[in-house]
Amino acid sequence: MNIIELLSERNRQFASTEFAPLPSLMPQLKTMIIACADPRVNPTHVLGLKPGETAIIRNVGGRVTPNVLREIAMLQAIGRAESSSSSGPSGSAGPVSTFNLIVLHHTDCGIARLEARRDLLATFFETPESTLAEKFISDPRSSVAADVALISANPLPPGWKVSGMLYDVKNGLVETIVPPA
Ligand SMILES: [Zn+2]
Repeated sequence: MNIIELLSERNRQFASTEFAPLPSLMPQLKTMIIACADPRVNPTHVLGLKPGETAIIRNVGGRVTPNVLREIAMLQAIGRAESSSSSGPSGSAGPVSTFNLIVLHHTDCGIARLEARRDLLATFFETPESTLAEKFISDPRSSVAADVALISANPLPPGWKVSGMLYDVKNGLVETIVPPA
């Protein structure tokens, strides 16, 4: 069985047992998560997310790059378009009142293995190599705080809160580094 056959078989299983159509593209928990592409740290699994609950952007390190800021802006625009085209306030019946943006970094992140590749990192962060120290490549506690500060430095729509969490790949637990503010 090749990978496509394997995944197609799993999809048929999903479609016949778990699938339920979702009424809106708006995340039911009013939450967007920025996380690393590392297969060990999939927010869907480690945070127990259900289909439709959160929007998730994943890249190397779960880092807030200029590209991620552009994607957040696009998702906000999609949310505004969806809200104005739907008859009622989408997702307003959910358990969360504000919209949350969560930066989720993790221990033992592969991006630390690129510390010597300053050229790659400078391109990724769209920043001069001389400022890479501010990105805390090998210090995930500081990188969470730095990325939350970076998002907070940009204008956010009213009612949005930004927070930062750290996932430990050794014990499966997340720790709040920056509470919602
Ligand atoms: Zn990682």
